[in-house]
Amino acid sequence: MSITAVQPKHATKRVTVLGATGSVGLNTVELILARREAYHIEALTAYSGVEALAELARRARPRLAVIGDPSLYQALQSALAGTGIEVAAGPQALVEAAQRPVDWTMAAIVGAAGLAPTLAAVSQGATVAIANKECLVCAGEYVIALAKRHGTTLLPVDSEHNAIFQVFDAGQSSAVEKITLTASGGPFRTASHAEMAAATPAQAVAHPNWNMGAKISVDSATCMNKGLELIEAFYLFPVTEDQIEIVIHPQSVIHSMVSYIDGSVLAQMASPDMRTPIAYALGWPDRVHAPVPRLDLTQIGQLTFEAPDFSRFPALKLAREVLRQGGGAPIILNAANEIAVAGFLAGRIGFLDIVRLVEATLEHTEMASLMAAPGGLEVISKIDTMARELASRLQQRFA
Ligand code: NAD
Ligand code: MG
Repeated sequence: MSITAVQPKHATKRVTVLGATGSVGLNTVELILARREAYHIEALTAYSGVEALAELARRARPRLAVIGDPSLYQALQSALAGTGIEVAAGPQALVEAAQRPVDWTMAAIVGAAGLAPTLAAVSQGATVAIANKECLVCAGEYVIALAKRHGTTLLPVDSEHNAIFQVFDAGQSSAVEKITLTASGGPFRTASHAEMAAATPAQAVAHPNWNMGAKISVDSATCMNKGLELIEAFYLFPVTEDQIEIVIHPQSVIHSMVSYIDGSVLAQMASPDMRTPIAYALGWPDRVHAPVPRLDLTQIGQLTFEAPDFSRFPALKLAREVLRQGGGAPIILNAANEIAVAGFLAGRIGFLDIVRLVEATLEHTEMASLMAAPGGLEVISKIDTMARELASRLQQRFA
């Protein structure tokens, strides 16, 4: 049997990258630039890194560059003067950039801040590659319904969900028994409770296998990342909460698995490098080359698996309870976690306080009335704002 490289079918694909200066965003732009002739880059966006955005835009030559912080409009304009690249700034400009017609959008803004631009991209139709898991956690049902309404294809980029997408037989979803999300266990997988209590931001962001943005790195250290991914998986795939299992797999080689009723288990394997799931989403339904280290199983030698330790990583239990509860609970979990992670990174609270603060926010009486099922976007954003305010106040107790 001969294996031939799959050639892209379309002449040029019009693409936009939201959150282009981040870890996922930069990897996406690099993959696009590696086959520059195959793409027309419509827009690149960032929040506050003007220099990084301007430098990237000078290399990638998008039609439009947008900076989220409105006070940085002048800075971006002068950095890109004479290039012919359109410049815009502010939250509304991010939404307008995402609305421009393209064939493919990468949604790689971090946090619920990415919700409005991601929804704009989904409403625009075509294909949206979703890395921004927080927007699925706080508005999963809404995002999926919107995609259906507009005939938009959603492609999961998170490595676990991308793995499941690759091995999930959508035509036979009733033959799926369960899906298994693998988790590396993060930098504190074997740490004692006392070591975790004393953990610094530098230790928490030093992930053993993945090189990622600061927020998701801290989420990996608390295992809240896997909790968010549990909720993300629930919305992306036709499974119930009790059909989603989490297993610790320290080598991060098997990115997730799908088990079928005949006993078959299909797994996707690759080196832990986000360029593989990004390339999968970028090329889909074809496959495109990704310059990642090739998997050498004889070098790795062993793949190991462990049950999660819920006492050292209470975020896993908390996220499952929140998913069972539904309604406003996932929005509150996500908002409080964003406040808590920012507080930890700024040195205001300790590592173990992150999940304690999320728990305290969820349990607070002020949140009780918000637990009812969220309706539209307005309700989602109201709950998000109230949970952030409450978490910020409660944070002072831990300081
Ligand atoms: P990052 O912090 O490296 O980059 C975030 C990007 O979003 C930057 O371009 C930043 O300018 C932009 N941004 C930040 N705040 C913004 C705001 N308020 N408004 C508009 N833009 C804003 O983050 P990342 O690690 O690339 O992660 C991006 C998303 O992808 C997250 O939701 C994360 O959970 C998910 N994800 C990341 C990885 C990874 O390997 N990094 C893996 C799986 C999923
Ligand atoms: Mg992941």
